[in-house]
Amino acid sequence: MPYLDNFDRPISYLRVSVTDRCNLRCIYCMPPEGIPWRLHREILRYEEIERVVRAAASLGISKVRLTGGEPLVRKGLVGLVSMIARIPGIDDLAMTTNGILLARYAEELKAAGLNRVNVSLDTLRPERFRRITRLGELSDTLEGIAAGKDAGLVPVKVNTVVIRGLNDDEVVDFARLTRAPDWHVRFIEVMPLGDNADWAGNGYVPMGEVRERIERELGELIPARLGGGGPARYYRLLGTQGTIGFITPISEHFCYQCNRLRLTADGKLRPCLLSDYEINLRTPLRQGATIEQIKCLIVEAVRAKPERHHLSEQVIPQGRTMSEIGG
Ligand code: SF4
Repeated sequence: MPYLDNFDRPISYLRVSVTDRCNLRCIYCMPPEGIPWRLHREILRYEEIERVVRAAASLGISKVRLTGGEPLVRKGLVGLVSMIARIPGIDDLAMTTNGILLARYAEELKAAGLNRVNVSLDTLRPERFRRITRLGELSDTLEGIAAGKDAGLVPVKVNTVVIRGLNDDEVVDFARLTRAPDWHVRFIEVMPLGDNADWAGNGYVPMGEVRERIERELGELIPARLGGGGPARYYRLLGTQGTIGFITPISEHFCYQCNRLRLTADGKLRPCLLSDYEINLRTPLRQGATIEQIKCLIVEAVRAKPERHHLSEQVIPQGRTMSEIGG
């Protein structure tokens, strides 16, 4: 039974950022030169991550998602997947990636115990992909998506952050993909965090508008289900099997059903994505903290979870960029 927070929400999900580094420089996420990377010694070792997940599992956490930066740039990630997959109580192990390296590792990740992947993809136009990511090729991410499906890391869900004037003119093209049964596209409202507040402010597109555009062009969206226990609301086009999801942290926040904690790559436990409050786990871990002591710190984080975010009151977290938290 997951541990309940002060608002009776069962906390069953831990997002683990394994690195702050990335092989892309998305314009709404970080500056061209990147952000000052954390020193190697500041980053949790795989054994330390394993201990935190083991402690969390004994408190009812059953789902783990590996994130970054870009998780696949960290060496030996397949090894971490097999370490976590062996922990009793973890029955859903997923990863979010930009897909650039996925074709290379998909089979190994599946064999190591990874269940499924979400792939971040904000455009279907090669030129625009280069402009948005500054470093990547669309073909690599599309090959990654195909490799993820072939390896059985399904459903492969595509995460598309919609930004006005950047890619909002492609929402119908993305929706059209879901006419194929194995395409699952989730549109996400851009969230202000750290340095990207301008992008989020000027580029914000409410999902209601995205839905209207899709229904105007492609017809009615009917409610659908796609598992995974996340905040997305799923629909499908009539007569199709693929799904379209909407994630609305701004226009219709879902904090009332929040079920998660986040572990940053440098070992801080973050009760809420959109609050700067964190609990340091790295120091106690390196001082030899027992599993029981780590469990106490996790319970402290659960109890520190806010009822909701306060973006509408212009309370915007400043302490980290999204790439340092892993979304
Ligand atoms: S903003 Fe915070 S409380 Fe709301 S869903 Fe996200 S993590 Fe949970």
